[in-house]
Amino acid sequence: MPQPLLRAKRSDDSSHKHARRDGPRPDSSLNADEIARLVPLLRLQRQVGNRVVSRGLKSRSAYSAAGVGTLIHRHDGPSIASPAGSRFGRKAKTPTEKKRSEIDAILKKSKAGKEALAILKKYKVPVNLDHPGPGSVYQGPAPGQIMIENTVDAGEAAFILVHEAIHAKASNEGGTADVMAMGRVEYVTTMINEETTATVSSIEAKLGMSKRAQKKVEATPVMQERYEAAYKTAYDAAIEGKKKKKEARKLAEQAGWQSVNDAFYDGSLVTSNTGETYGDYYGSFWDQCHAPPAEEGI
Ligand SMILES: [Zn+2]
Repeated sequence: MPQPLLRAKRSDDSSHKHARRDGPRPDSSLNADEIARLVPLLRLQRQVGNRVVSRGLKSRSAYSAAGVGTLIHRHDGPSIASPAGSRFGRKAKTPTEKKRSEIDAILKKSKAGKEALAILKKYKVPVNLDHPGPGSVYQGPAPGQIMIENTVDAGEAAFILVHEAIHAKASNEGGTADVMAMGRVEYVTTMINEETTATVSSIEAKLGMSKRAQKKVEATPVMQERYEAAYKTAYDAAIEGKKKKKEARKLAEQAGWQSVNDAFYDGSLVTSNTGETYGDYYGSFWDQCHAPPAEEGI
């Protein structure tokens, strides 16, 4: 699910290096034909709760999850364990295992990072760090899986992992938006709120680290500067207004969240795969799911 991309960075950066690309929501990665096939199934399932239909949907998700037809899997080549690392009876870590250890070490340095790790553990969500991309994604249905583009370094991957863990949490706890049950505005608002919380959590995973630890991690979560600016303005105003520190922090966090939420509506953030604003992106997905299908093929 969308790890957002800054609009400004799209035009001047084609290297994927610091453009945080993301895959679409699992369902929206389907093309128009696939959606047209799915919609009658979803409708039927909602109407009759038919187990056969449910199985049909699951197998289609599995097809999509496997990336058949949509993703080209790329390998880094063989991993060669260094002689120094391969002690008798003990396997050396592969580069991917090493990266995962680095990610975990970064995340253990903040509350938000620890919470993300706890979510993955609780719901047993696998994390694939060798995803060829483009982009990183949480792919449902629950428990689902997280796939992180293999071009990002451990620091970037750590913050992306926090973002996607929030989607995993929403999906596993049934809090994510239901495109078939909700109206268009409600669906888009709910999804953008989830994106906002995911984006803020990843910022908190950085800002929650000690200053010294922060200096060691070069990666900066999307919207961090904007969040910090809004936070500071609100915090200073609250202190000026004689609020206690604890309340000032709470007001500042709300202001930070709101400023990130606004970024999803004002065009600052666009999806990496379609370049649309999130409102258009989720809105058009809702439209596709609710438009009458060309033919009820089942
Ligand atoms: Zn997202």
